[in-house]
Order: sequence, then C-alpha cells, then structure tokens
Amino acid sequence: MLATALGVGLALLAPQVDGHSTRIRYTMQGGEQLGELAEAYGISEAALRRANVGEIARGRVLEIDARVLPPPRQKLRITVGEREGWADIAHRHGVAEQRLRRWNPKQAQRRRLRTGSTLVLWLPSGAHRYPLPADTSGFPDVAKPEHGESVGRPHRGRLIDGAPLPQGPYTIRFDWQAFGSALTVWHVARVLRAFRAETGFDGELFVGAMSRRSGRRLSPHRSHQSGRDVDIRLPAMPHATGYKLQADEVDWHAAWALVDAFVRTGDVKVVFLERKLRRRLRRAGLALGAGDDRVAAVMAKVRHSPGHTAHIHVRFECAANETACRD
Ligand SMILES: [Zn+2]
Repeated sequence: MLATALGVGLALLAPQVDGHSTRIRYTMQGGEQLGELAEAYGISEAALRRANVGEIARGRVLEIDARVLPPPRQKLRITVGEREGWADIAHRHGVAEQRLRRWNPKQAQRRRLRTGSTLVLWLPSGAHRYPLPADTSGFPDVAKPEHGESVGRPHRGRLIDGAPLPQGPYTIRFDWQAFGSALTVWHVARVLRAFRAETGFDGELFVGAMSRRSGRRLSPHRSHQSGRDVDIRLPAMPHATGYKLQADEVDWHAAWALVDAFVRTGDVKVVFLERKLRRRLRRAGLALGAGDDRVAAVMAKVRHSPGHTAHIHVRFECAANETACRD
C-alpha cells in the first residue's frame, strides 16, 4: 500500500519487520510535505508532529523514528524548458505526474506550465540499503596484491613496484595512474565492491588519480606520490550529466555510505572534501539513521580541502611492513 502510494518499488523498501524503528535525523530542505515525509517513513503525520513540536521550517532537523527505511530523497530544482509539460518532466525523472504537481502546488494552479519557471522534485538516492555491515569481514574477498610498497610522504615520495588497481565494478579513468601500495589497492577494490553490494547503488563509479607505477610527481596533484592516495568521483544522481558534478547532482546518501565503507577498513588516514560539502555529507549520514557515534567516527576522518567538490580524495595509512613510509 505504502509503496504504491509513493511510487517506490517494493523491493527498495527495507521494512522493519521486527517492529523496531530506526532513529533518523532529517534536515528539512524546504518544500517537503510533512504527510508525504511521514508516510515514507511509515509513521503518521500526527506522530511526526508530536515528536517535533514547534515550527518546522527549512534547516530544522526532525527526529523521526522510522518504521520503514526507503531510499532517502534529495531535492532537485529544475527550470522548465520550452514547450515542456508536466508529463514530459515527470516522465524524464521517473516520477508520477500527480506527485510532481503536488510538489509544486503554485505552478499546478496555473493552466499552463510556464517556460523558465522552477519546479521542485524529490528524487530517491541510489543507496537503497543502509547501514553497512558492522565490520569489513563481510566485505567481498579480493586478493591482496603481493607488491606495491609506499616510500616517503604523499607529497614527496615514491612507490616500489606499484600494484595496479584490478578491474571491478567501477571505471578506471586513467590506467597509467591507477597504481598504489598493496594496502591501498586492496582496500579500494574491496570497498567499491562492498559499497555496491551493500547499498545496491548501480550508478557509475569513477576512480580517478591514484599514483603512477613508480609513484613520484603526478601533475597537477601535489600528493598522489607514494601510492596511498585515491581520487574517487562522488556517486551521482541519475539526472547528472557529464563527469564533473554540481552539488545537487551528487547522491549525498550514497556518498555517505561510500565514505562510511572506506572508514570501516580502519586504514583510512583522511578523506578530503570541501568544507560546505562536508556538511551535506554529515546530514546525509544522519538522514540514513547512522547513529551519533558512527557519524562522529566517520566525520573525524573527513577534512576540508579546497577544490574537492566533485570527488573525494582518500588517503590510506602506511602498512605495517612499509618501514620507509612517512606521513
Ligand atoms: Zn586528489
């Protein structure tokens, strides 16, 4: 009943069959309909209001004891193109026309949709399942490379007999710069597989710069020299076009699950991301129901770095046997 009302596939829902609920913290993005929001999480609007007294406006963090965990939805604003109608836009984004009208009550009152006007859509994240397993023992088994030793520092270092990142459920942008230390390559291959398997995310995953086979300088990067760095484009929403993403093209909930999966390896030193996006990542974690401890543990690894707007940069620790590896 719920699934049909929402137009969400039943398979995507994760009902809490045992009667438990998951506490999520949902940051209001503005324009949500509370009834719809409550319904999506399997509670009544009255219960939602009871748990969140006072004004419910944009930026307010709602506490929701969710009984079902649908893929969280992200807000998208679009501009109506020439001769575009409700049906065209609804069809293009895979939502019911009736819902599109409900999300945009003012425009829906007009007889015709005006070219150049703005419509709001609420689109589901591609991360269908969360949380991830508690530890990495449940991650897919990938053979650990037998070579690839990090020497020196990320900004001034090299790589002895770098291990190539094996093919996997991801796109390697440049083969010649997809080498790393044994530990780094092993984790990247496992985490990306685990991320897909656990969340059901089926969009493209791009692995950008790692290191050259022998490390050393990799223009235009300053680091990426010692085989411990990897750039990964943030997971994208289906409507994203092109490689470089705008902030509203990023699937933030999937991004959270991805960073969370990396941190679970226990070997991540730091994840770089632009400050304002760091906030969005955190919010996505809370909306997925990650508890305070988990959010704190993950965010402790995420550090501001200018320019990291469409990708994350993950740096791994030195392996125990890499005696010449430095931070
Ligand atoms: Zn980088």
